[in-house]
Amino acid sequence: MAVERTFSIIKPDATRRNLTGKVNAKIEEAGLRIIAQKRVRLTPIQAEGFYAVHRERPFYKDLCAFMCSGPVVLQILEGENAVARYREVMGATNPANAAPGTIRKEFAESIEANSVHGSDSAENAETEMAYFFEDREIVG
Ligand code: ADP
Ligand code: MG
Repeated sequence: MAVERTFSIIKPDATRRNLTGKVNAKIEEAGLRIIAQKRVRLTPIQAEGFYAVHRERPFYKDLCAFMCSGPVVLQILEGENAVARYREVMGATNPANAAPGTIRKEFAESIEANSVHGSDSAENAETEMAYFFEDREIVG
């Protein structure tokens, strides 16, 4: 398995409850390295662009408003099979369906306020990393 990179967001429900460190501990315990990280407040334009793939879904407007409702932590994670590995560590979208020990099982408030985002493919990871990070901000 090759070393790869994935894109992560610690969402506003998690930063509001001061869980950044606890989420990062889960990431690091899973063998993933945080090689870029910044805390920002997303603008509506940024959130709408990031989630454009979901623009026809009924939850799109609420999701974009939620993502702008407080600080988020944007991250790039590196490790063996990082895309799939981080999806495992995150758990299912709906915390009610998430496996024990996953970030979403332990921390998510709801299917919308589910604490973290992680890329769903290596191709989308590339697009998402480039959407938020300059090369010089990534220190592997
Ligand atoms: P994932 O984040 O697990 O890849 P999706 O890409 O399907 O899930 O959805 C993106 C985000 O939209 C989810 O993480 C969640 O915050 C929100 N979301 C997904 N489905 C719903 C839903 N049925 N109702 C409200 N929000 C949702
Ligand atoms: Mg997704």
